[in-house]
Amino acid sequence: VKISGRNSALIFDHLMDDITSDQLNIESELVAAISNRELVVFYQPVYHTQHHSISGFEALVRWQSPVRGLVPPDQFIPIAEQNGLIRQLDFYVLEQALIKAEEWRQQGVLKGRIAVNISSINFQQADFVEQVSQLVNKVNGDCNFIELELTETAMMKGADLVSKNIDSLKNMGFSIALDDFGTGYSSLLHLRQFNIDKVKIDRSFTKEIELSTQDRNITSVIIQLANALSIEVVAEGVENETQAYILHVMGCFLLQGYLVSRPLPEAQLMMFLEKEIEY
Ligand code: C2E
Ligand code: CA
Ligand code: CA
Ligand code: CA
Repeated sequence: VKISGRNSALIFDHLMDDITSDQLNIESELVAAISNRELVVFYQPVYHTQHHSISGFEALVRWQSPVRGLVPPDQFIPIAEQNGLIRQLDFYVLEQALIKAEEWRQQGVLKGRIAVNISSINFQQADFVEQVSQLVNKVNGDCNFIELELTETAMMKGADLVSKNIDSLKNMGFSIALDDFGTGYSSLLHLRQFNIDKVKIDRSFTKEIELSTQDRNITSVIIQLANALSIEVVAEGVENETQAYILHVMGCFLLQGYLVSRPLPEAQLMMFLEKEIEY
């Protein structure tokens, strides 16, 4: 079938119409989703290969939409970042994490901290630390159970302010992780400038680590650098035992990925943790 230039332009136009109107739909549905409590938080455990135990969790948001089903974050976070909803969204997840951390602590199932993703858009707001502090007071939460995951984009604006905000958050009790490490701009500079507790090696480095010498070498250097600076290091996206073994031998003992567990809704996480205790 030959599609003429004119027809393909038309088809393209219609496609664009669909995409734009779907984006508009998502936008308006998302506003309702937040007030209707359709956002759900899943938790992915992080495993420590030397201690043979779970040593933390990452909170990952999903949208349980009555019309769309379970929507992954990649499909609505970018939209929420464009229209400002990301503020409510990240604060909702942080609130849940603060509440769950306290609940799990009382039940004796909290291991380490719950990590919460913070969009760079939120972190760069002048009143971010103040807003966090108000939320913590509102739910009477304990920041010592929470880790905030920032990306390198968050560090790009005004080093003095970033540094001051990170220090304030650490003084409150939060720990700070640098997410997707190695994918951003001037990663090394950020490690030197800011008081980072942990780096998370991006999945793009670990996903073919058993096949690629280059990926192995880069990962190994990141791990050595982190260890030399006494910064904790986590590998993301670990899916098989070969990858886990390579990372362990290289000195990275914190592993996150499908090999350990997929992100789970709270009820399933509790079953996972019960089984884990029996090892
Ligand atoms: P991220 O922070 O890098 O989170 C890790 C992503 O990798 C998660 O995708 C997780 O489900 C996935 N993952 C974990 N282990 C494996 C594995 O072994 N293999 C593969 N293929 N993937 C694995 P998810 O949950 O779809 O989240 C995607 C991104 O959405 C996150 O990337 C984060 O940037 C963003 N995100 C999620 N929740 C929030 C949130 O509450 N606030 C903000 N601002 N962003 C969020
Ligand atoms: Ca993350
Ligand atoms: Ca990440
Ligand atoms: Ca990533």
